[in-house]
Amino acid sequence: MRPVYLDNNATTRVDPVVVESMLPFFTEHFGNASSMHAFGSAVGGAVKAARQQIQSLLGAEFDHEVIFTSGGTESDNAAILSALETQSGRDEIVTSMVEHPAILSLCEHLERTRGVRVHRIPVDSRGCLDIDAYRRALSGRTAIATVMWANNETGTLFPVETLAELAHEAGALFHTDAVQAVGKIPMTLAETDIDMLSLSGHKLHGPKGVGALYVRRGIRFRPFVRGGHQERGRRAGTENVPAIVGLGKAAELAALSMNDEVTRVKALRDRLEAGILQSVGSCFVTGDADNRLPNTTNVAFECIEGEGILLMLNKEGIAASSGSACTSGSLEPSHVLRAMNIPYTAAHGAIRFSFSRENGPEDVDRVLDVLPGVIANLRAMSPFWQGDGQPPTAFNPTYA
Ligand code: PLP
Repeated sequence: MRPVYLDNNATTRVDPVVVESMLPFFTEHFGNASSMHAFGSAVGGAVKAARQQIQSLLGAEFDHEVIFTSGGTESDNAAILSALETQSGRDEIVTSMVEHPAILSLCEHLERTRGVRVHRIPVDSRGCLDIDAYRRALSGRTAIATVMWANNETGTLFPVETLAELAHEAGALFHTDAVQAVGKIPMTLAETDIDMLSLSGHKLHGPKGVGALYVRRGIRFRPFVRGGHQERGRRAGTENVPAIVGLGKAAELAALSMNDEVTRVKALRDRLEAGILQSVGSCFVTGDADNRLPNTTNVAFECIEGEGILLMLNKEGIAASSGSACTSGSLEPSHVLRAMNIPYTAAHGAIRFSFSRENGPEDVDRVLDVLPGVIANLRAMSPFWQGDGQPPTAFNPTYA
């Protein structure tokens, strides 16, 4: 039976058309983009074309606003570190409690090692940002506000355009980690106040280890990776041309399939979600149901462990992902679900299904065939399970 891959927020399959576009740049066109001779110029043109493909997907005004990086993590780090250098007299960061570790662990590090003050803005039970708290945290000390466009676990979307305007009112820069949003929802950056944006190739059917940082024209920028003059002195290191070409092609394909994403893919996601809610008791969808990425659903099943569900689904050839992370031997719910105050008994059993344009109705049918039995089996083994609609037995650890 064909495996069912519903973990596209973790990574996507590289589109064969993308692979095709990359291949000549390993062999025929192997030149260094910075070289003056013909080998270099052929390659330089391809890098420029990729920059324009990303500019077009983002709705940015100029292609040189796009800097190629090694991925989402580097782009996030580069944005924050640059802001702290260029925004003189400002040494605070405003962010949310539900960012990816690419933001949160850098913030922690800066707090510990440089005394940077970090404001982590809470979210409500749907994962929506407390805008008043965000507004209050911004001040003349804020160097940068950084809030993700879409949450990787729940798909909840953040009002980044408004958040950018509020940051500007305080004289701060605004960055968004849009790694999960780019290619899934339309955007026109030229019409927003967003100063910087991170994206990653492998989330949109492009290669791994390549990404980009959009830096709006006129924003002062200091490089994170220092060395040669590549990327107009903003990111040193010989360009990874095949990956850059692949990322450009992936961006072009994402733009072409945007309609499919927001209609057909969303309909698949919605059918799966409705089917689960109907066929399995004592479960609910986490995140903001009305304001989410079209491809993501995160369902919390009471009184069982996400890891158990994943293992049993995996045996059936179905790949999804859980909201728990194995830390020091204990399975703790993710920081995102904890920030949303999802009851522990349910957060433990949260599963994320994330679709892409490569999924079809047969994938939804298969999960709906298999999942109710998996949940019933696991609950039959759970000492905490009392039956649908019954409160769980004593299983009441508190969040640290
Ligand atoms: N930001 C978000 C929201 C992500 O989901 C991810 C990847 O999971 C990253 C950043 C990191 O991107 P990369 O894997 O390209 O470093």
